[in-house]
Amino acid sequence: MAKTIGLTGGIGSGKTTIAKYFMKKGIPVYIADVEAKKVMQSSTVVNAIKNAFGNSIFEGNDLRRDKLAEIVFNDPEKLKVLNGIVHPAVKEDFKEWLLQHDAYSFIVYESAILFESGTYKDFDTIIAVTAPLELRIERVIERDKTTREHVLKRINSQWTDAQRISKSDYIIENIDLEIAKNEIDNILKILKIKQNES
Ligand code: ATP
Repeated sequence: MAKTIGLTGGIGSGKTTIAKYFMKKGIPVYIADVEAKKVMQSSTVVNAIKNAFGNSIFEGNDLRRDKLAEIVFNDPEKLKVLNGIVHPAVKEDFKEWLLQHDAYSFIVYESAILFESGTYKDFDTIIAVTAPLELRIERVIERDKTTREHVLKRINSQWTDAQRISKSDYIIENIDLEIAKNEIDNILKILKIKQNES
């Protein structure tokens, strides 16, 4: 059975960049954000969202994600409703994906909100990616061509690095990517040794 690694980190920490390195090393990676977008197109989830939020956030059958985001990020109760629809559907999707990748020694599940969603409990090992706050802000402004205020709003809606660190097994500080990659190599060596011992 594959050992499961939960990979997390705040916005701009570089967790997707790190996830891609795991992929390059032949380790299957489930990017929760990408898969959630696919899951949100399934008819069951579309119907549940229509029932909860009405037709006005749809254009035909296409979900206007921007309109939905506008609603839920300004109303914690509505965010809870949306999460109550999407999280179980993603969990189910991941369960199936995991069965398909069970022959691998390791798999990685990447999510920004691994702790906030409670999903962290499902993994054998948790790795948090960190980077100095200012660097994270600069990276996201550059990547998304967005404003500092927008990035800060997202950062403030997530756990802090200190919170993530306190609940993680390994921390990767992602400033210099080559150093971060070395840290991944070392973590994988340790995990392989542990796996052989068990
Ligand atoms: P989000 O939570 O928004 O998905 P993320 O944590 O997945 O963010 P990435 O998208 O991997 O972050 O990285 C943010 C940006 O910073 C990207 O443009 C990426 O190319 C760049 N980046 C990541 N790590 C490094 C690094 N070590 N050196 C330079 N640039 C980096």
